[in-house]
Order: sequence, then structure tokens, then C-alpha cells
Amino acid sequence: MHTVKTRKQRCIVVGGGVAGIAAAVEATLQGMEVVLIEARRYLGGRARSFRDDTSGDVLDNGQHVAMGCYAALRYVLRQLGTEHLLGPDDPVPIVFASAGNERDRFDPYRLPGAAGVIAGVLRLRSFSLAERLRLLQRGVLAAFGPRPEGKTVAALLERWKQPQTVIERFWEPLVLATLNAPIESADATLLRAVLRRAFFGGGKSHYLLVPRVGLSELWEPLPAWLAGRGGQVQLGLQAVELLRVGDRVIGVATDDGEEIRGNAVIAAVPPKALLRLLGPESDAARAAAAFETMPIVSVYLWYDRPLDIPPVVGLWGTTSQWVFDRDRLIERSDDSRRQFPGHVEVTISAARHVATQPAETIAALADRELRAVFPSVEPAQLLRWRVIKERAATVLLTPKTISLRLTPHGSIAGLFVAGDWTATGLPATLESAAASGIAAARAAARLHR
Ligand SMILES: Cc1cc2nc3c(=O)[nH]c(=O)nc-3n(C[C@H](O)[C@H](O)[C@H](O)COP(=O)(O)OP(=O)(O)OC[C@H]3O[C@@H](n4cnc5c(N)ncnc54)[C@H](O)[C@@H]3O)c2cc1C
Repeated sequence: MHTVKTRKQRCIVVGGGVAGIAAAVEATLQGMEVVLIEARRYLGGRARSFRDDTSGDVLDNGQHVAMGCYAALRYVLRQLGTEHLLGPDDPVPIVFASAGNERDRFDPYRLPGAAGVIAGVLRLRSFSLAERLRLLQRGVLAAFGPRPEGKTVAALLERWKQPQTVIERFWEPLVLATLNAPIESADATLLRAVLRRAFFGGGKSHYLLVPRVGLSELWEPLPAWLAGRGGQVQLGLQAVELLRVGDRVIGVATDDGEEIRGNAVIAAVPPKALLRLLGPESDAARAAAAFETMPIVSVYLWYDRPLDIPPVVGLWGTTSQWVFDRDRLIERSDDSRRQFPGHVEVTISAARHVATQPAETIAALADRELRAVFPSVEPAQLLRWRVIKERAATVLLTPKTISLRLTPHGSIAGLFVAGDWTATGLPATLESAAASGIAAARAAARLHR
């Protein structure tokens, strides 16, 4: 009897961000041979890290956090053997602070699951008991009640008659952090998804996870992982055109003049890059063209002494929104610590206005605000700063644009679409990217079985 060795189906993944990484991992697990091509010389896309030459510190292109409910991301990292680097059993409580010396602490980890979240909200001292109870009631209703279709978060909060202080101190920070959008334009169904999955998802869903290493370390094993399973990663290679036979996509042409052919192409790229590949005429391209983007500005500051501040702080009443004490959160070398003992990152999301300002103005503002909020920082000397403006950090998902998100299996045969901006039902996040990649890979594998 002869054994017939069937050739594996080949899946070409375009884009080595989180969506492409997830697609490559899942397509491999589904039995396909994967070729991942990434235009840049590194993996990770909008979630990457690099070494800062002066301090020796590893910096991210912007501080990222994950949540326990990031099941798709964690599944991918588990395959790559890096899930533990997210600190999944070591969640970080959030301290809130203002320049008026107000302090509060959201620590939802004393009880398991949603009970912990409820207890955490009930212990917030900045709101009256009536405000806390109303906040919880509204949170539960929003999570499990009807989907607030066609509404912005601001319209929803107005309908709920939420007091201004609760909006400014709870809802706004939550929406800026999770949706990267002002409440006036953020789509309310995405807030519902966050509440439902993160706050009321049960188990450890509500854990705030801060990677303990530079982001790139999370994806580092991918090339070897793929190579061990018959696949490959090609960095510094850009897809410039989709190859078609009739209406079917059969591969990609690359900027080195070569062609790569396969049974399926997964385009795991942002909308504008998809538009370039598709040309302006298809439905998918028209949808891709409709998305605006929103910046995130990250400010790294180094001081001559460790700053006596909590690891994660949400700031009230300042332009700076979040502060992360990188000295406590991230592995640093002894040399970096000796030279630059204090090291923090300040995040400003939905930063359209801030992103237009010069870097030195932004750094000075972050330093000033930090000193105003934490008197303990006052004696510290700022030794160095570095500002990173990610002008297209995420797409802006509004009630108008949300319905334009593409599904993994679009209208073009042989082509599958992934990316944080596609129709995952989630805000444009690491989790949305990972979920979209997995969905696209499964759709591709199903069709080619
Ligand atoms: C500063 C900042 C902070 C953030 N904070 C958080 C956070 O705290 N938590 C969270 O969950 N999310 C956060 N996000 C969002 C998160 O980073 C993104 O949602 C996610 O990384 C998007 O992944 P992606 O794979 O969809 O897209 P991308 O990362 O953009 O990947 C697309 C890749 O495709 C490549 N590419 C494009 N065109 C081509 C082509 N023609 N050929 C080959 N390659 C191509 C690009 O070079 C890129 O590497 C943040 C984003 C930023 C920028």
C-alpha cells in the first residue's frame, strides 16, 4: 500500500503586527504552511519595543497594558511560550491622583471575578455611596442590557444622567484608555463590550496586566516557532500587489520583484495599507478608506532618583492621563538603574491636539504635571526625556464608522482580512488584533480543507 503525502495548503500572511502573528500561529495550527511577510525589519507593528541607546532601557513604542479577558492574545502567546511575560497572575491595582492632592485606589482583586470589581467600585472614596451604587447599576445594565446601537458614549452617559464628577473620574479615563477616543465620538457598543468582557467576564477577566518586558519580546519566538513547523517569516519585504486569476487572489507580488503564490492570502494590515493593495474600486477598499485614525503620545522621562509613586496611576484633571513607573514594572539593567534611577512613562490617548505640539513642550508638560500631582517628585531632577507620537495609533470607531469594519472573509475569493480595526466587536486593541488574526486563519483553513 502506498502512503500519499498530501502537500500542505499555503497561507500567505501580509503584515507582522499582532493580527498577522496571530493569523500565522493559527493557520499553522490549522495545518497550513505559512509564509509571513512584514514590510519593516521587525515584528510587532504598533506593539513593538526597541533599546534606547542613551539609557540602555528597552522602550515600547508606547506603554501597552492587557486585561485578563484578552483570551485571543493569551492563546497566541501561550503557543509561543511567552504568556507568562504578561504577568497573568500578578495584576496591578490602579491609583487615581490629582494635583489637588486627591487620591483614590481601584483594587478589584480582593475577591474573585465580578464580585471583586463590585467591591473595588464600592471602595472608591471619591464618589458618594449613591454615586457608586448608580455607577454599578449602570455598569451592569450597560454590560447586559440592550446594545446601545448608533450612540456615542457621551449620549449614553447623558441618558443615564451620570454626574459630571463620575464622568470625568471614571467613564472618561476608562473610555480614553480602552477605546482611544473622546467620549463625544466613541461608539457606545464598544464600551459595552469592555464592561461585559473585562469587568463582568468572571474569573481573572478584570486583571490589569502590564507586560514585564519590552513588547517585542512577546513575539520574539515566532520565526523559530514557524520554521519548526515548515513556515517562515520574511522581514523587510513588502506586498505591493495582490496576484489574481479572474476574481480570485492567488498570491502577492513583493517589492523585491518576486511573486509568492498560495492558496489563501491574509491581509493583516491597517486600512490604508489594505486600500493600497486593493486599489480604490472594491467595496472593501471603500470601507478601508473611510476610517480616520487617532494618535497616542507617550512620554518617557528619566530622573536622578527613583520616584516614590505607585506603579500605575490614572491622573485626574491633567493633560497627562496615565503614569507607569517603568522602574518598578519593567526589567532594567543595573547600569540603566545606576545612571537613571527614576524612569516613568506618561500616556496621552486620543491626543490629536497634543500630537501637534513640539516634543520638548510635551515633555515639559508631562514633567510639570507629574511634579504637581506628586510632591515627592519635586526634588528629583529630570535627566532625559523622549517623546513618541504614534499618529495613527488606532482607528477611531464611532457610531458612523463601526458598521464599516470588515469581516475576515470579505467579498474577494482567496483573500482574508485581519487587523484590530476589523469586525471583532472589540475596541481596536491587542485583543481585537489577535482575535481577528485567529478568525481569518480559521476562515482560510475551513475553505481549503
Ligand atoms: C502607543 C500605543 C499604545 C497602545 N496601547 C494599547 C494598550 O494599552 N492595550 C491594547 O490592547 N492596545 C493598545 N494599542 C493598540 C494596539 O497596539 C493595536 O491595536 C495592535 O498592535 C494592532 O495590531 P495589528 O496587527 O492590527 O496592526 P499593526 O500593528 O499596524 O500591524 C500591521 C503590520 O503590517 C505591516 N504592513 C503594512 N502594509 C504591509 C505590506 N504591504 N506588506 C507587508 N507588511 C505590511 C506593517 O508594517 C505592520 O507591521 C496601542 C497602540 C499604540 C500605538
